[in-house]
Amino acid sequence: MARAGGRSVKSESAVLKPIVLERFGGERKCNGHCDQQASLRVMQEDGELVTAIVCARGYVSRVMVYGLRDNGSAMSSLIGSALGPEGDFKDEDVRTATRYAWDMGMEDNARDIVFKVAYWAQNYRRTKTSATDRNGLFACSQCNAFFIQPVSSLITVCSACSKKR
Ligand SMILES: [Zn+2]
Ligand SMILES: [Zn+2]
Repeated sequence: MARAGGRSVKSESAVLKPIVLERFGGERKCNGHCDQQASLRVMQEDGELVTAIVCARGYVSRVMVYGLRDNGSAMSSLIGSALGPEGDFKDEDVRTATRYAWDMGMEDNARDIVFKVAYWAQNYRRTKTSATDRNGLFACSQCNAFFIQPVSSLITVCSACSKKR
């Protein structure tokens, strides 16, 4: 993998994407929103690789930013701007982890860092309330942009895409 001195023609996110999809893809129950299935969606692959766990209704339960460097600040600016000033986002809401070849079950170069991941879970937000009109982060089913709407909403497209219809 992208080792110091190694020459790589592929971008970091192109290398990481198949690994991440293979290990963390797959369906799961939506967390903290509805009883629909949720799956891993690639949100961005230019620059940092960004994925999110998004349910069938578009609710984002988790966002992950992967790379070989620390990417907590990339996550902070991404989620901070997605939630907007009302979102009450704090840097401490972002957790980070380093995944090594050994803990990914890769036998070669077991001590190599495969990637660093920063993650943010929507249920970390301090504005915890069960009100169905509370705002939540969603991902547009058309353009993949993050947008904010009440968690009870059944709309799955952002306002820009809904105007195009
Ligand atoms: Zn859901
Ligand atoms: Zn959209």
